[in-house]
Amino acid sequence: MAYTTINPATGIVGETFENITDAALACRIDELDLCFRTDWRLRPVADRSRIVASAAKIIRDEIQTLAEIISRDMGKLVSHAVGELALSAAILDYYAQTASEFLEPKALPGAPGAKLHAQPLGIILAVEPWNFPFFQLARVAGPQLMVGNVIVAKHASNVPQCALAFEDVLRRAGVPAGAYVNVFASTDQVGTIIDDPRVRGVTLTGSEKAGAVVAERAARNLKKSVLELGGSDPLIVLEDAPFEPTVFNAMVGKMNNAGQSCVATKRMIVVGEERERQFLEAMTNAMGSLKPGDPLDPGTTLAPVSSEGALEGLLAQIEQARNAGAEIVLGGNRIDRPGSYLEPTIITNIGIDNPVYRQEIFGPVLSFYVVPDEESAIKLANDVPFGLGGSVFTADLARGERVALQIESGMSFVNNPTWSTPQMPFGGIKNSGYGRELSQLGFGEFVNWKLVAIS
Ligand code: NAP
Repeated sequence: MAYTTINPATGIVGETFENITDAALACRIDELDLCFRTDWRLRPVADRSRIVASAAKIIRDEIQTLAEIISRDMGKLVSHAVGELALSAAILDYYAQTASEFLEPKALPGAPGAKLHAQPLGIILAVEPWNFPFFQLARVAGPQLMVGNVIVAKHASNVPQCALAFEDVLRRAGVPAGAYVNVFASTDQVGTIIDDPRVRGVTLTGSEKAGAVVAERAARNLKKSVLELGGSDPLIVLEDAPFEPTVFNAMVGKMNNAGQSCVATKRMIVVGEERERQFLEAMTNAMGSLKPGDPLDPGTTLAPVSSEGALEGLLAQIEQARNAGAEIVLGGNRIDRPGSYLEPTIITNIGIDNPVYRQEIFGPVLSFYVVPDEESAIKLANDVPFGLGGSVFTADLARGERVALQIESGMSFVNNPTWSTPQMPFGGIKNSGYGRELSQLGFGEFVNWKLVAIS
């Protein structure tokens, strides 16, 4: 399958890039290996920091142009793309600034003469999705380049212009050609890359299906993998949650990137029947008032979903939900205009046997539940195969923290939807994957924590 931009706002097919040939791929891996052994890992940290910080500056300087590339590739509102790029630059800066401290050899309490030294491993493969096409690459490139690893990146096949633009930013910042290489690889070639003994680890962000294939291949080669997979984040509204801020945050959590975020608010769980109608009405009004249009137009508030395939998948899930007895209280249909637009949709009365009860719905679709008490809210929140993020809204912060701790997830937030900063580790449990990106934890995933003990 080739790599092609199909503008989701218009359906117009843009440039297509053929898959890399096996011979060219072999050359790229040779270049990465040579650069790792003879150049990148040997450079002073200050040199790598200067280059990575310079990439952050280029992103900031060119934010509008880059945002438009993102919008054209995968349909994101240009304002959301600007936010994504600002975060991407912040991630690069964060690692440029913290790496020397993270790389400092660490003494081990109780073991005199022993120290842990952080050493890079080699070539790391990154398999990345289209939904945050710069952020996903930045959260691998920032830490891995600063550790001294080199990266071969296989981006999603619908965002080739973003893949090239990110590589170009790094190149102009001074990252040598062998330290970061984008490849338009097929899935078979992903397997070939993992099999190469010089490739020492693989990180994948995407679906459970792709994660399982890639992790299995890595395991067969006795290589480490990090998986950032899907989610079905709950947003629990306790009886005392302040109304307006909760609705505002639920909208932000739901509608960032047209709901196509692994940590989007996928399920709103309201405690107490008395407030059900109030919250449902408010969410219906807020989601129903979004304006579809050109994502490049700052007045547009509803973007298309990423592709026709994604739209068809969402319509099929909505139909499946309806057929199994759920009620579609808002939207549920394709919007009658060019491009792949779905009406913002709210589904209620989702029974435990409804297939969508345990599925991830990756788009502008909210599953809305009401439960009698806190205990039932936690039970429902945890009754899915996923464990990525989650949030709880309440006026009682201590209670919020107690509930947050009981959500089965890698990340839980009180009075905020799940969100991401460079300093906070990002990742999940259960079918949402394993390992962490961002923060010091993300920095340490592909490091040889080498013990040297002097007696
Ligand atoms: P996807 O189909 O799994 O694609 C993700 C990446 O994996 C793409 O580069 C894709 O390449 C590649 N891929 C797919 N099948 C593969 C295989 N068999 N072998 C090797 N590579 C393979 O994911 P998606 O449906 O586009 O993305 C949405 C999913 O990602 C959602 O479940 C979402 O929740 C999850 N996600 C998770 C996080 C997180 O941090 N936890 C963040 C964002 C998204 P092609 O494009 O060429 O198929």
